[in-house]
Amino acid sequence: MIADNLKSVTQQIARCCERSGRSETAVKLVSVTKEADVEDIQTAILAGVTDIGENRVQDALAKYRVIGDRVTWHLIGHLQTNKAKDAVKIFSLIHSVDSIRIAEAIDKEASKIGKVQDVLVQVNVSGEKTKFGVRPEEVDGILEESVLYGNIDIKGFMTIAPEVSDPENIRKYFRTLRELRDRINAAQGEHYPHLSMGMTNDFEIAIEEGSTIVRVGRAIFNP
Ligand SMILES: *Cc1c(COP(=O)(O)O)cnc(C)c1O
Repeated sequence: MIADNLKSVTQQIARCCERSGRSETAVKLVSVTKEADVEDIQTAILAGVTDIGENRVQDALAKYRVIGDRVTWHLIGHLQTNKAKDAVKIFSLIHSVDSIRIAEAIDKEASKIGKVQDVLVQVNVSGEKTKFGVRPEEVDGILEESVLYGNIDIKGFMTIAPEVSDPENIRKYFRTLRELRDRINAAQGEHYPHLSMGMTNDFEIAIEEGSTIVRVGRAIFNP
């Protein structure tokens, strides 16, 4: 089941890359395991999963104790400052930096263990009150202030699209984030390669709009 699902998602990604004139290797699949148990994760790894995404540090830690570094770990959910210490221990990429306060906490904990932590800035493009993330107009300020932090490396941006009945209505949010990234890269010299956008319902649209990392849970683990 998981292996079949994974194969079909991988094929969808490949076909979508092809029709958008992008290389298949330009898009990384992060398999979101927040609703999967350790056994499912092990099955997924055997089926070829290399990158997994968790949205809570505590859950990820418990799974990490069993799975370890056989996969690359991504934190995709909101991070609280008191969890930064655990987060820097296991995550290769933290997608959810949504304030200067959390950037500072990650920097401090990463520096204690001699790590430069790769992160993305989460942007709330739609402006929904229920969503974490900085507003698009706050991004420049966050990037400027983050220059002070030598133990974080901002690799790009992440967004979660709103839930709408017609996925085509989502396109504009992905496009807005890509344009924001392109504008900043044009001004500052291509420092921000990554756009983490696209989930089960909308990853094809996200890829068409330039996503480099898709985070897919239900389509693979089908809880
Ligand atoms: C759960 C989650 C996903 C995966 O969503 P699916 O609809 O299961 O593909 C992606 N990103 C974030 C931030 C999530 O919390």
